[in-house]
Amino acid sequence: MTPSYDVLVVGAGFAGSVVAERLASTAGARVLIVDRRSHIGGNAYDHLDDAGVLVHRYGPHIFHTNSHEVARYLSRFTAWRPYEHRVRARVEGRLLPIPINLDTINAVYGLSLEEEDVEGFLATVAEPRSHIRTSEDVVVGTVGRRLYELFFQGYTRKQWGLDPSELDASVTARVPMRTNRDDRYFTDRFQAMPRDGYTAMFRRMLSHPNITVALDTDYRSVRRAIGYDELVYSGPVDAFFDMRYGELPYRSLDFRFETHSTAVFQPYPVINHPNDEDYTRVTEFKYLTGQRHDQTTVVYEYPRAEGPPYYPIPRRDNAERYAKYKALADRTPDVHMVGRLGTYKYYNMDQVVAQALAVARRIATGRAAVDVRRTLTTSA
Ligand code: FAD
Ligand code: UDP
Repeated sequence: MTPSYDVLVVGAGFAGSVVAERLASTAGARVLIVDRRSHIGGNAYDHLDDAGVLVHRYGPHIFHTNSHEVARYLSRFTAWRPYEHRVRARVEGRLLPIPINLDTINAVYGLSLEEEDVEGFLATVAEPRSHIRTSEDVVVGTVGRRLYELFFQGYTRKQWGLDPSELDASVTARVPMRTNRDDRYFTDRFQAMPRDGYTAMFRRMLSHPNITVALDTDYRSVRRAIGYDELVYSGPVDAFFDMRYGELPYRSLDFRFETHSTAVFQPYPVINHPNDEDYTRVTEFKYLTGQRHDQTTVVYEYPRAEGPPYYPIPRRDNAERYAKYKALADRTPDVHMVGRLGTYKYYNMDQVVAQALAVARRIATGRAAVDVRRTLTTSA
């Protein structure tokens, strides 16, 4: 007999796992969640490496959110370790704060400005733009060309294979500019790491008796072999529709891990390399996780055009192509696209969770309406 479920969820990352958990817990749905990888957690997966250091296999994942709802929801599945992230960029041989702040400006220009002087100073170097359209406009329009070239242009060309002038403003706008000495990467109200790691959190999320997890399982290999009413899909949306409107570009990365026989490798959790080196940044995991260990592991990130899809590329032409896929998805019955790849959005983890919670509510409401109709038909 064909195994049958109420909902088939494709992808066990944040998007898929949140929807699976909500539908199992709140709507009593029987859920099958499949992932083609051999583990849960999607790109947030973490594990102990050969030396016993907790690492993030797909690059550093730092949790931060302004959403009470998202923080409260995830707190059901994990305790937290407070953590505020700090980054330095290696520029002209020095390690300087990024996001650009008062200390960055003083160091680059050899000044000793105070907070109240910064706005006036930036007015002398910024090149105001009437329309902020591209990632170049955002930075040059706020802090001027010199800081742009030192901190943003090279990094962005490496990361995206595109000049900032070819990318939407939203990309570099992720990194704020500060006139004070705050050197935190994020200023969200809630900044913390899951105390036992991300994978442990996902394990608890998916431990509901109504949820079956199938790893090393591609959706395409099971879709005809099982029965289900609804499909929730968090893989790349273009692949789902067999590239009907052409491929959506995604940017990829290679990760090079290195373990060192020393307790500390570098003076900050992340060091960005905007101008030299082939890699963009180096992350030392123990800062993020708080783990105590006499060895330490770091990861180097090398941007790639080919490889697993990690980043949607925010540009007008890509958004237009995605809009066609979205319209198609919207008119495909009982299919729900979620997540960074399914909705082609450069989302952080908390944004994916918020989106998944909303999608799960919508599906649960739809299922409840169908149940009511069935009951009315049977009793009529
Ligand atoms: P994913 O985690 O990609 O999950 C999708 C899953 O679907 C994958 O496991 C994939 O194997 C599976 N899948 C796809 N197709 C199929 C198929 N046909 N059959 C079966 N399974 C399939 N966010 C933050 O908030 N803070 C950070 O510091 C941060 N750092 C990041 C660093 C890097 C290098 C990257 C790449 C991302 C980072 N993010 C960060 C973003 C974060 O990873 C995402 O927001 C989040 O993980 C997306 O979850 P998702 O479920 O949408 O996608
Ligand atoms: N960026 C940059 N220099 C930096 C940090 C970021 O040019 O030192 C730009 C780059 O284009 C990057 C984008 O800002 O892709 C967003 O940075 P973020 O740290 O949010 O990237 P992510 O962590 O998502 O890779």
